[in-house]
Amino acid sequence: MKIVVLVKQVPDTWGQRALDLQTGRIDRVLGENVVDEINERALEVGLIQQDTMEAEVIVLTMGPGSASDAIKKSLAMGADSAIHINDDLLVGADYMRTAQTIAAALKSVPFDLLIAGDKSTDGGGGVIPAMVSEILGIPHLTHLDSVTIEASKVSGERSNNNGSVRAHATLPAVISVTERSAEPRYPTFRGIMKAKKKPVISENLSSISLDSVSPVSDNETTAVLTVEARAERIGGIKIIDEGDAGNKIAEFLALNRLI
Ligand SMILES: Cc1cc2nc3c(=O)[nH]c(=O)nc-3n(C[C@H](O)[C@H](O)[C@H](O)COP(=O)(O)OP(=O)(O)OC[C@H]3O[C@@H](n4cnc5c(N)ncnc54)[C@H](O)[C@@H]3O)c2cc1C
Repeated sequence: MKIVVLVKQVPDTWGQRALDLQTGRIDRVLGENVVDEINERALEVGLIQQDTMEAEVIVLTMGPGSASDAIKKSLAMGADSAIHINDDLLVGADYMRTAQTIAAALKSVPFDLLIAGDKSTDGGGGVIPAMVSEILGIPHLTHLDSVTIEASKVSGERSNNNGSVRAHATLPAVISVTERSAEPRYPTFRGIMKAKKKPVISENLSSISLDSVSPVSDNETTAVLTVEARAERIGGIKIIDEGDAGNKIAEFLALNRLI
């Protein structure tokens, strides 16, 4: 079984994060860039399968040169190989372009299962897995809290407002997983050493055949028009209770149209 895991490098949520006010894009120089945690969980779902049945796990990332660190970590965790799509023309790629590029690259990687996070912590669109499955014309199970992979089908549970539902699809399929899906393993020293010898294929827009997925036209793309810095936070109001705190809180909420 061949499993591809979509991994995105994002600015560390524990560090400082900001938008570049000139370009409207994420400032990737400000803090540390890491593998998105949801993608470590997605990778773990694939690696569990690799541990228990014959499965090859390939990670695929579309991102700038620095995303090679995300690939190194994924390989150290246990992925067998990686594909890195990087091209200056992809800087600022919107959802449509990202999904089409990833789908086009996947055309030359016949896979049984594609695993993605349900939503990245930087872009936060939560749309790429659905768009890739639509372009490739294969089923998509969304927001899975648990996953069971069998030889020819994948199933899992997803939560909804009333409880949970079980969903299943025949392979090949795309699944997107939530933070409940799996607890990612730490890379071992042996894993880190082995990762250095694992194959990493570099792709760019000329090496993948975008024609196979009918590329977007200019009027189908989205662009950031303006970006503003968030207003500085100002200190809150401290209410000392002298028997009238309830009234003061109600007045404050009413004044700020919060009630
Ligand atoms: C040179 C270059 C520069 C880029 N700069 C930026 C940037 O500044 N800011 C930014 O947000 N994006 C950047 N990207 C990546 C791309 O534009 C975004 O990944 C895309 O817009 C997806 O948005 P999202 O994170 O909201 O997707 P979501 O739909 O929220 O992602 C859901 C899941 O889809 C998968 N996925 C999403 N994006 C990727 C990806 N790129 N590679 C592999 N798997 C993925 C992951 O499994 C993720 O958990 C850059 C790419 C390149 C090549």
